[in-house]
Amino acid sequence: MYDYLIVGSGMFGAVCAQKLKSLGFNVLVIDKRSHIGGNVYTENHDGIHIHKYGAHIFHTNDKEIWDYVNSFVEFNRFTNSPLAKYKGKLYNLPFNMNTFYQLWGTQTPQEAINKINSQKGNVADQIPGNLEEQAISLVGRDIYETLIKGYTEKQWGRNATDLPAFIINRLPVRFTFDNNYFSDKYQGIPVEGYTRLIEKLLENIEVRLNVDYLKDRQAYSNLAKKVIYTGAIDEYYSYQFGALEYRSLKFEHERFENTPNYQGNAVINYTEREVPYTRIIEHKHFNYSETKHTVITKEYPAEWKIGDEAYYPVNDEKNMALLKKYKKLAKEEKDVYFGGRLAEYKYYDMHQVIRSALYFVKENLAE
Ligand code: FAD
Ligand code: UDP
Repeated sequence: MYDYLIVGSGMFGAVCAQKLKSLGFNVLVIDKRSHIGGNVYTENHDGIHIHKYGAHIFHTNDKEIWDYVNSFVEFNRFTNSPLAKYKGKLYNLPFNMNTFYQLWGTQTPQEAINKINSQKGNVADQIPGNLEEQAISLVGRDIYETLIKGYTEKQWGRNATDLPAFIINRLPVRFTFDNNYFSDKYQGIPVEGYTRLIEKLLENIEVRLNVDYLKDRQAYSNLAKKVIYTGAIDEYYSYQFGALEYRSLKFEHERFENTPNYQGNAVINYTEREVPYTRIIEHKHFNYSETKHTVITKEYPAEWKIGDEAYYPVNDEKNMALLKKYKKLAKEEKDVYFGGRLAEYKYYDMHQVIRSALYFVKENLAE
């Protein structure tokens, strides 16, 4: 008999497992995939760590979280500074003085501010009600049309006017010549890949792979006193109120022999609507390795349907109302706890998932 059955070996499940084990509990982790790590999983291809589920850059302002992950593995000093390509021209991201110069030739912060203010139109006087209004009020219409609208609408498969404003607030707007995509104090990538980090979190913990909890939930629940479930909350309840909507992704990995450097940067975004992928990542630039070969991944946004991998929750009003119904059921469960990106239906980054898992163990489970 285990104290805890943890369904899912992603960041949420792995951190819960590590913490509970350190508190003396007996833990079993299961995952329906053939590997640990959930979406942060990386695979070593002759010296290059491939981010199998898209680019993952660790960043946080929270020293406790940074110290926590660094106590398991070493991180490098990677700084994400992606470029955006639009109609054959490259622009720096996030939106900063370099971007403004490339677009308008403005050279001082005041010139850039004046330019943006002149493009706000009537959104200047209202509280932004959707992503389009929020974007225009932050950076004006030119940047919205060039670097945001096409990317956003293909990424989400919806008009920017139908998306919540908060999505665009993830990107800083800076009036300095600084191409760092994140404003956090700490940033980097595990030198030996994320899979190594998850392996360290799960050290001396029993893990069973290729096991779908929902296919045999009674048998697995019987193995433990309590269950921590990190899969999709609506799937847990057999979609009885309907399915929460997600955006999915298709990843196209390509390996080139005799090409030591394909694009000169880890991430290039393609912001035109007509280009079917949103970004190309070249994995070796996350953690530079001297190899003759390289591996790139094109990320294609895709419609999600039941059975596909769910990547991005669509946190609009309709889905949030549906989530409320599922959360009500979850609250009534005895000895089953829900956490992580899928179970909470939250657009969580890794540091937020870790914070949430540590808090969750402290508040609920460590009696
Ligand atoms: P997941 O990683 O989804 O893990 C859930 C696990 O549960 C999976 O392994 C799944 O197989 C398993 N599972 C589900 N149902 C069952 C079942 N019925 N039975 C058994 N197992 C089950 N964060 C950052 O901080 N920086 C980034 O740069 C970044 N980039 C991202 C890029 C992309 C394309 C995506 C999609 C996410 C990105 N994230 C990034 C977010 C990051 O991936 C998540 O915050 C984190 O992986 C969430 O961990 P989790 O454990 O909650 O979920
Ligand atoms: N975004 C954009 N243009 C870009 C990059 C991002 O319009 O070149 C918008 C888009 O709506 C995206 C959101 O900003 O969904 C958040 O971007 P981020 O890079 O944080 O997305 P993630 O890494 O989570 O996919």
